[in-house]
Amino acid sequence: MKGVGPLKGALLKKEANIFTFKDLLEYYPFRHIDKTRVDKIADLSPASEYAQVAGRLSRFEIIGEKRAKRLVAYLKDGSGEIELTWFQGINWVEKTLRPGDLYLVFGKLSFFMNKAQIVHPEIEIFTPEKSGGKKFLEPIYPSTEKLKARGLTGRAVGKLTFSLLQLLSQKDFPENLPESVVVQYRFITRWEAFCSIHFPASDEMYTHAVRRLKFEELFFAQLRLSMLRSTRHRFSKGWVFDKVGTLFNTFYNQYLPFQLTNAQKRVLKEIRKDTGTGKQMNRLLQGDVGSGKTIVALLSMLLAADNGFQSVIMAPTEILAQQHFIGIFELLKELPISVRLLTGSTITKQRKEILSACEQGTLSILIGTHAVIEDKVLFKNLGFAVIDEQHKFGVAQRAKLWKKNTLPPHVLVMTATPIPRTLALTAYGDLDYSVIDELPPGRKVIETIHQFENKRPQVMDFIKKEISKGRQVYIVYPLIEESATLDFENLMKGFEEVKSFFPEPKYWISMVHGRQKGDQKQTNMQRFVTGDTQIMVSTTVIEVGVNVPNASVMVIESAEKFGLSQLHQLRGRVGRGSEKSFCILLTGNKITQDGRERLKILCATNDGFKVAEKDLELRGPGDIEGTRQSGLLNFKIANIIQDRAMLEVAKNIATQIVEIDPDLNLAENLHVKEYLQIQNGKTVWSKIS
Ligand code: ADP
Ligand code: MG
Repeated sequence: MKGVGPLKGALLKKEANIFTFKDLLEYYPFRHIDKTRVDKIADLSPASEYAQVAGRLSRFEIIGEKRAKRLVAYLKDGSGEIELTWFQGINWVEKTLRPGDLYLVFGKLSFFMNKAQIVHPEIEIFTPEKSGGKKFLEPIYPSTEKLKARGLTGRAVGKLTFSLLQLLSQKDFPENLPESVVVQYRFITRWEAFCSIHFPASDEMYTHAVRRLKFEELFFAQLRLSMLRSTRHRFSKGWVFDKVGTLFNTFYNQYLPFQLTNAQKRVLKEIRKDTGTGKQMNRLLQGDVGSGKTIVALLSMLLAADNGFQSVIMAPTEILAQQHFIGIFELLKELPISVRLLTGSTITKQRKEILSACEQGTLSILIGTHAVIEDKVLFKNLGFAVIDEQHKFGVAQRAKLWKKNTLPPHVLVMTATPIPRTLALTAYGDLDYSVIDELPPGRKVIETIHQFENKRPQVMDFIKKEISKGRQVYIVYPLIEESATLDFENLMKGFEEVKSFFPEPKYWISMVHGRQKGDQKQTNMQRFVTGDTQIMVSTTVIEVGVNVPNASVMVIESAEKFGLSQLHQLRGRVGRGSEKSFCILLTGNKITQDGRERLKILCATNDGFKVAEKDLELRGPGDIEGTRQSGLLNFKIANIIQDRAMLEVAKNIATQIVEIDPDLNLAENLHVKEYLQIQNGKTVWSKIS
C-alpha cells in the first residue's frame, strides 16, 4: 500500500494487529470530530468543545519574550472576532500566514475574558469549495506511543484508510446477509457501512454503519456455531446407550443417598435422550456451585457402563480429582464396578496397573487430571467423558479425548461457576446446553459479610466460637500470577499470623498451596477432610469442587483482589452441611468505591447466575474466567453486554437459517455462504506491505 513502507508495515502489524487491507478496514475509529459545519464566531459558546470557523485574518502580534513568547492572530468573520494562539512554531506561522487572506480554522475552543480563542489551531487557506466545511466527520483512531513516533497518530491512520477506500468500490463489498434480513432491518449496504464507519457524512450515517457492522459480526459468529452444532447433530456418529441396566438401577434404587432434584432429573433425561440417538453428544452442563452436577455425571457413567462402555472424568487439579475419586468410590463401593484414580503423582506400580486395566477394559471409571488424556492411556472402549470445570481445559485437550476410541465418546462439560446465558450462547454455542437451576432442598443461605482489616480480632474471635462448636474454617489468600513469590510470602505471613491466634495443641492447622508436592497437598487436605485440623489456610487451589460439609466459615483475605465469580466459587466451599455458614470478605481499610460495590453484590445474593451477570457487566467478557482462550468473544465492534438484544436477534436468525437450510444451499442464503467461504480463507486479501 502506498505510504506504508516496511517499517510502518511492521509496526502496524505489531502494534495494531493490522496485517491486511481487511484488518485496516476493520480498525475502527473510537470517535469522530465534526468539521462538517462552519460556525459563526458570534454563535460560539463555552458549551462546544470544538469549533470550526472561516474568516479573514486581520493581524497578528507577538506577545511576551523568550520562553513566554506567543503569537496571537485575530480572525474576523463578520459576526465577531476570535483569537488564535501559538506558543510553538511561531516562526513558521509568522512566515506562512498573511493578514488579509481568508482561512478555515479548526480546533479546541476555549474562552478567556469572554473572548473565544483556539490554541494551536489547524489552519488552511479558505476556498469556495470549503465553504460548507468538510464533507465527512473526521475519524480518530486508537494509537500507541510507538505508532505515534512513526507518524501514525490517531488521525494519520485515517489517511491510510481513506486512500484504501479510494481504491475500492461498491462491487468489492458484495452483500453477505440474506435479502430478507437486509430489508426487514433496513440495513445500509456493506460498502456504505465501511465508508460511513470511518468517514460518516453525519452522526446518523455513523449510527447506521455501526448497527450494520455489529449485526454482521454477531450474526456470523452465531451462524458458525449453529452450523457446527448442526453438522455434529447430522453427521457425527456416536455410541448408542440403548438400555438402562442393573448398575444404574441398583444404584438409583438402593444407594443414591438423596432424591434427585427435578432439575437433575431433567438433565439426566436430556443426556439419556442424546446418548440414545446414535449421534455423539456434546453437552454443556451449567449449574450453580453445589447444585449437584457430580451425581448427574455419575449416573451417566453408570449408564455407559450398563451399555458396555468405559467412562473418564477429568478435573483441573489433583485435589479435585482426589475428592471426586473419594466421593465416587464411596458411593459405588457396593457395586461390581471398578473405579480408579490417575494423576501426575500416581506411583509407577499403580500407574501400570491402571493403564493395563484401562486397556483391557476391566476398569470402568477412570478419574483424574490431565494425566488421563495422555497418549499412553489407552481404553478398550471409552464411551463417555466428563470434563469438570471446563475453563481449565483447552480445545486441543478435548480433541485428544476424541481420539481415544474409533468414534468419539459422548462429552459432558461441566462449568465451575455459572456463566450468564448471553455469554454461554456466545462462547459455547456449538454445544448443547443443560442447566441445573435448582439447589438441593434444605440448603441454607450463606451469610456473607464484608469486614475491614481493623475488625480482624473480632473475626478471629468469631472463628474461635465456630470451632468450639465443632465447625471447621477456611482462610484463603489471593493468588496473583504475576507475582508468585509475593503471594507465597503473603501466604506464609498469613499462616504465621493465624498460628499466633490459634496455637497448638488446642488448634491444628492445614496449609495447602501450589508449591507443595502432590502428596504433601493431599495429606494436608486429607487431614482437614477427616477433621484432624480445624483450619485450612490456602491459596485458591481449593477454589473448585472441594467438599467438606463440616466447614462453616470461609474467610477470604484481600477479597478485593478476587473476581466476583471466583469469590462466589470460594464461598461455595461452605454451606454444604446442615449448619448455618458464613463467608467473611476481609479487605484493607481503604478500598475503592468500586471495590466496595462489587463486594456488596456478593453480600446481597447467593445466586451464582446473578453474580455472574453482575461480574460480566462490571468487568466485561474479556475478564471472565475461561472465556479468554475461547477467542470467540473478541469482537471488533460488537459488545455482547451492551448489544445483547442484538445478539439475541442475530442468534435467532442464524438458528432459523441453519434449521431450514443447514448447508446454505437455498438461493436466498447464497450471499451468506459465499461470505463464509471467503472468511474461511478461500480468498486471500492483499497484504498491507
Ligand atoms: P457441584 O454442582 O458444585 O459440583 P456437587 O455435585 O459437588 O456440586 O454437589 C454438592 C453437594 O450436594 C454434594 O455433597 C452432593 O452429595 C449433594 N447433593 C447433590 N444432589 C443432591 C440432592 N438432590 N439432594 C441432596 N443433596 C444433593
Ligand atoms: Mg463440582
